Amino acid sequence: MARVLLIGGGHAHLIAAPLISQATGDAVSVALVAPSAELLYSGMMPGWLSGQYRFDECAIDLARLCRVHRIEWIEDEIVDIDFASREAVGRIARYPFDLASVNVGSANDLGDIGDSSPRVLGAKPFAQFVDEWTAWLGAANAEPRPRPLVVVGGGAAAVEIAFALAALSGHGSPLAGSRVVLATAGEELLPGMSRIAARLALGSLLARGVEPRFGWRYVGAGDGCARFDGARQIEAELVIVANGARAPQWVGAAAGRDTVALASDGGLAIRSDLRSTSHAAIFAAGDCASFVDQRVPKSGVHALRQGPVLAANICAALEERARVRAAGATSVATRRFTARRRTLALLNRCDGSAIGAWGPIGFAGAWVWRWKDRIDQRFMARFR
Ligand SMILES: Cc1cc2nc3c(=O)[nH]c(=O)nc-3n(C[C@H](O)[C@H](O)[C@H](O)COP(=O)(O)OP(=O)(O)OC[C@H]3O[C@@H](n4cnc5c(N)ncnc54)[C@H](O)[C@@H]3O)c2cc1C
Repeated sequence: MARVLLIGGGHAHLIAAPLISQATGDAVSVALVAPSAELLYSGMMPGWLSGQYRFDECAIDLARLCRVHRIEWIEDEIVDIDFASREAVGRIARYPFDLASVNVGSANDLGDIGDSSPRVLGAKPFAQFVDEWTAWLGAANAEPRPRPLVVVGGGAAAVEIAFALAALSGHGSPLAGSRVVLATAGEELLPGMSRIAARLALGSLLARGVEPRFGWRYVGAGDGCARFDGARQIEAELVIVANGARAPQWVGAAAGRDTVALASDGGLAIRSDLRSTSHAAIFAAGDCASFVDQRVPKSGVHALRQGPVLAANICAALEERARVRAAGATSVATRRFTARRRTLALLNRCDGSAIGAWGPIGFAGAWVWRWKDRIDQRFMARFR
C-alpha cells in the first residue's frame, strides 16, 4: 500500500489532508506528523496576543482533524528528511514514505543574540512563540510595570503585533505605560499593500503611542537593547521579530545534502503544481515552499488556497505511480495553483476595530473588525 506522509500541520495540509483521505479511502495510508496537535490560526493570532481571544478559540486540533478523517496522527518533531531513502527523521522515530508533502511553516531570523537580556522571540514558528510569550507574560504580570518593547518588521504581521502590544500597554494592564517601538529596515509600512491602508496603519499606531522607526535594519540584541545597523540600538526588555518568513533551517540543510532544489530564499523550490522541481516524490506548500514560476506572497490565505491543488496533485501522483506499476503507462493531468492578484487583508487594531486592504483600496473601522471576526469565526467553525 502506498504511504503518503504529510510533514507539518500547516494551513495547506489542513485543507489537503481530508481531501486526500476522502479520495483514496483504504487504498492508501495517509499520515500527518507535527510536534503539537494545536495549530494557531494566523488570522486570530494577534487577537489572542492582545487578550481578545482565548487560546482554545483560535487553535485547531490536528489530532481531532486526523481522527475524523481517518488519517494517522503522529505527534513528533521532524528534524531531518532523508530524501534519498524516502524517510522523515523525527525525534521519536523514522517515518518512511512513498510520497511526502512538506508544510512546516517558517521561522524568523533572530540575529546575533548576546545575553539573556532582552528576551528575543520570533513570531514564527507559532508553537514556540506561544510557549515563550506565555512564560514571558506570566513573569511580567507577576511584576507589573512599564517595559520597553520592540517589534521588528514592517509588514502585516509586525504591524498587528505592534497593535497588540499597544493594546496591552493600556490602562489597567500589568504592562500599562510600556513603550512600544516598531522598527523596520524599510522606508514605509505594509510594503506591497494599499498605500491608503499603510497610511491608516501608521496614523493608528502613532495615535496609540507606538513609535515607528524607518530604515533601521535589525542585527541582533544584547545588553538590554535591540541592535540595528550603523551601531544604533533601542532599549528593550522584549523584542519580537516578525521581519519576514523563511523556511526552517533544518529543511534547507536536508535539501542541500540530498540535492533537493532550493530557491534563493531558502525555501523548497516548487512549480505551480506544488511539486519539487528536482524530486517527483516531494511536494511542498505554504511558507516553507518557494515557487519558481510565479510570485506568491507568504501568507495563510495563500497557504490555505494551495490545499485543494496539493490534494489533487498528490492523488494524481498516486494514480501515476499505480499506472506505471501496472503497465508502464503515462502521466496523469495535474492542477496548477495560481495566486490571486488581489487578496483581502484585514489587520486587527486589537481595540475592536481593524484596517482593511484590497488592491489599492484601504479602509478602517469597528465594522471592519466585526467583518474580520465573522470571517475568522466561520473558518474556525469548520474545524470544531
Ligand atoms: C502575527 C502574525 C499574523 C499573521 N496574520 C495573518 C493573517 O491575518 N492572514 C494571513 O493570510 N497570514 C497571516 N500571517 C502569516 C501566516 O501566519 C503564515 O503565512 C501561515 O501560517 C503559513 O502557513 P503554513 O501552512 O506555511 O504553516 P503554519 O501554519 O505555520 O504551520 C506549520 C505547521 O508545521 C508544524 N511544524 C513546524 N515544524 C515542524 C517540524 N519540525 N516537524 C513537523 N511539523 C512541524 C507546525 O507545528 C504547524 O503544524 C500572520 C503571521 C504572523 C506572524
